[in-house]
Amino acid sequence: MHSALALRCFACDRTYDEWTWRCDCGAPLNFASGPTDGETNHSGGTDSLPSAPPESWADTTAGLWSFDSLLPVDAHVTLGEGLTPLVDAPAWDAAFKLEYVFPTGSFKDRGAAVTLSLAAELGVDRVVEDSSGNAGAAIATYAARAGIDAEIYVPASVKPAKRRAIEQVGATPVPIEGSREDVTAACVDAVESGDAWYASHAWNPAFLSGTATFACELCAQRNWTAPDAVVTPLGHGTLFLGAYRGFRTLRDLGWIDRLPRLLGAQAAGYAPIAVALHGDDAADGDNDIADGIQIREPVRKNEILAAIEETDGDAIALPESAVERERDALYERGFYVEPTCAVAPAALAEYRERGVVAHDDDVVVPLTGSGLKT
Ligand SMILES: [Zn+2]
Repeated sequence: MHSALALRCFACDRTYDEWTWRCDCGAPLNFASGPTDGETNHSGGTDSLPSAPPESWADTTAGLWSFDSLLPVDAHVTLGEGLTPLVDAPAWDAAFKLEYVFPTGSFKDRGAAVTLSLAAELGVDRVVEDSSGNAGAAIATYAARAGIDAEIYVPASVKPAKRRAIEQVGATPVPIEGSREDVTAACVDAVESGDAWYASHAWNPAFLSGTATFACELCAQRNWTAPDAVVTPLGHGTLFLGAYRGFRTLRDLGWIDRLPRLLGAQAAGYAPIAVALHGDDAADGDNDIADGIQIREPVRKNEILAAIEETDGDAIALPESAVERERDALYERGFYVEPTCAVAPAALAEYRERGVVAHDDDVVVPLTGSGLKT
């Protein structure tokens, strides 16, 4: 670690100087200071960092570790991840950042690399995670790289290819019957009753430090300019909040001059943020193909709402039919992605329709997961 471990709860302000997975008050913890801590309306935490972007960012051999001065770890558990392509998508009048170009086929490798690096630094020998698939595969793979045992709690209905991606790197899938919430509850029971370290993409602050590198890479690829808006899938907010922290850090450092608007794309029927912003009707309909974001109670809901407020962002929910159409349109143009990630370009069309995004706005959409696991 760059300094002694210090965690802080932004809900009740309690601090901890040894690892614990959540605050006694029940809220998620963040690093107490540093560029990718959890504080909104951020000020400070960047004093020790360079005032200009590092020249080394263009060294593709370093991948996301080009930004390691912004990360809370010294260890690098790495498979060469990061620096994903940023490509034109003229049919969408946007640019796509191909976040499925990762060792396990999803952006979750950003978080898994940093989370397992922290686990290695802390001397952890066994991690657990609960996941609908992608985060589980990422944690399992980076645990294998680190030589750490992993158990991944998954819905009994998990896609066979996602289960195999967990099993074949030596991790143990633990299938749980019931809802996605039941899977998390079973995993939390294991954390509370045993000695396993919770490598959770929703709870672990190191995971968000990792996903913050999405914003750093994107701005570096755009010669240190921020787009007008970024549209991301929004379940637990793993990428949404990471992007927010990354952009905020770059803005505080003066490497970019403003934050992009952060626009979330949720699945109809599982849209707590859209409901909080627009009322119950905002989640009408259903969407069972976007299996990666079927989250009814995001752990960091308050942080997501604060990020939306600070960036003049928004969140809307998309029905299954719109996502299926969008997935097929992506396939036809060579983007072989999983259905969940089609939610974001579908939302971009809806945001334009509603006038939230102007037609000349400069928009980036991350494509978050590969079709190869579906
Ligand atoms: Zn607290």
